[in-house]
Amino acid sequence: MGARRHASRRTPGSKRAAAAAKLPRIAVLNRSTVMQDAAVEKITAALQAQVDRDFAPIWGAGAQLQFVGRKQGAPEAAWWLTVLDDSDQADALGYHDVTARGQPLGKAFAKSDLDAGYEPSVTISHELLEMLADPEINLCAQVGDRVYAYEVCDPCEADPFGYEIGSVRVSDFVTPSWFAPTPNAAGPYDFRGHIQKPLTLIAGGYLQYLELGRNAGWQQVTASRPTARARPRVGSRRERRRVGPESWQVSTAKR
Ligand SMILES: [Zn+2]
Repeated sequence: MGARRHASRRTPGSKRAAAAAKLPRIAVLNRSTVMQDAAVEKITAALQAQVDRDFAPIWGAGAQLQFVGRKQGAPEAAWWLTVLDDSDQADALGYHDVTARGQPLGKAFAKSDLDAGYEPSVTISHELLEMLADPEINLCAQVGDRVYAYEVCDPCEADPFGYEIGSVRVSDFVTPSWFAPTPNAAGPYDFRGHIQKPLTLIAGGYLQYLELGRNAGWQQVTASRPTARARPRVGSRRERRRVGPESWQVSTAKR
């Protein structure tokens, strides 16, 4: 809140340029054998539109996305959002919990999704938006005796609640109001307006909170039968939040 900020307020053009320069650059790396480069490139373009138009105005977190094909190396300075077959492939290729430079790394498991009948583009969108809202997987909101993980797509993660950008289906996401401590806080609680009250789920959704009271510990809640997506996969955000950063591994993958 210093003089520089006030000065830049009078020159909106340079303010915009400065804001763009500060956005994290996120490389969307296709490392999967089940997704064509062209498909991931198209998804990347739709996700850039989703971030710019829908997500950044609500969460104040933007990004500059860059598609990286199967044969191209991973840009070292960028955050990585890797599209992989499954967690075995992630391990084999050396994509662990943070990038080689210790920066945020997200993983979407396209083959696991296809096997379970899910749309990989919804998962890639889910991972991207959660990475933007909480890059270090360490943010939470306390409501009474419960501390809710800042995972912005989990409560409304099911494919049917997503929406199309062009022909690409992307994930719905909750708004800051979803974390409100009072049940009658003003909505909307998710971008698409499906959720009726703060801190609640819709079908296929998921949430986790840390109980501070007598039953202290991380609790999981699913809206219906636990799905394959609800189970924490090795290296996923859910699993990393549980094991804690002391167990995280630096990626060895260069390409
Ligand atoms: Zn999630």
